[in-house]
Amino acid sequence: MKVAFIGLGHMGAPMSRNILAAGHDLVVHDLRRDAATGLVADGASWAGSPREAAAGREVVITMLPGPLAVEQVLLGASGLLEGMAAGSVWIDMSTSTPAVADRVRARAGPGRIAVLDAPVSGMAAGARDGTLQIFAGGDAETVEAVRPLLEAMGDPARIVHAGPHGAGYTVKLMINLLWFAHLTATAEVLTIGTQAGVGLGTLRHCLLASPAASHFLDRDVLSVLDHGDYDEGFALALACKDLGLAVDLARAAGVPVPVSAAVEQVYRQARARYGDTGGEMLPVKLLEDLTGTPLRLPAPQE
Ligand code: NAD
Repeated sequence: MKVAFIGLGHMGAPMSRNILAAGHDLVVHDLRRDAATGLVADGASWAGSPREAAAGREVVITMLPGPLAVEQVLLGASGLLEGMAAGSVWIDMSTSTPAVADRVRARAGPGRIAVLDAPVSGMAAGARDGTLQIFAGGDAETVEAVRPLLEAMGDPARIVHAGPHGAGYTVKLMINLLWFAHLTATAEVLTIGTQAGVGLGTLRHCLLASPAASHFLDRDVLSVLDHGDYDEGFALALACKDLGLAVDLARAAGVPVPVSAAVEQVYRQARARYGDTGGEMLPVKLLEDLTGTPLRLPAPQE
């Protein structure tokens, strides 16, 4: 297929590389020209603007930080929509909200282009390995038409048609909200228990064998406990954006969410303290700094 890909960051660069590797004809664009250097060396073409990238393409894909950037790239000067041909498809894989895509569909006019929201889970490693989980919102026939592209980036068994326009964005925001809530609660539990005198390894072992066990406690938290790695592959600025969008969604749906609101505040505190580019697991460090005690498991004996 003739594809354009806009947004070559932590996720977009490896995702577009997998599209190229699957044999598709690829044009790329980003605000940062240097983000495309490796892809161009491997056969992709560079476009100087979103409109230029869209020209003659059957499918255009965006993987951008959030709603503001998506709106700018689609509807701004020299935007994608100006360049898209009738009958082409726009897939937004950013973690975003339906409002921008609704405006794009309205501006495009009825039936002129097809639109899918298809955000992803699986972090930069999943993007690199082509094993992302993908949640598509929009028409089933559009999902089927672009399935070969989705399968180039994601795990075929975990590409889900979540429902109509916006359903993919919603599923993705709910996944992130629950994960950030797991992280915040787990950090508090491990800090209380160890400050009260229980060894970290023993506490984690008992929790894992109990009804309070979680995937986060079993797997993801080890990045911090074993390596002191707070995952800079997903920035605090993006985590705060996702939590803000999730709480906005709750407000729009009229659902009171005191726990989600508190998780958002913890993340904002971490962002204020450690900066926009700090890793998504830094809320754990807020408590480590408060107690003066890093949460670390001893290195396994040889
Ligand atoms: P990133 O900040 O690393 O990359 C974003 C890219 O978009 C950058 O290269 C930036 O230059 C480019 N960009 C921004 N505004 C632009 C514009 N107006 N025109 C052209 N290019 C522009 O972000 P990322 O980590 O790759 O995340 C991208 C999206 O994927 C976000 O919505 C994020 O929430 C979501 N996501 C990220 C991860 C992860 O682990 N990093 C996992 C799942 C989903």
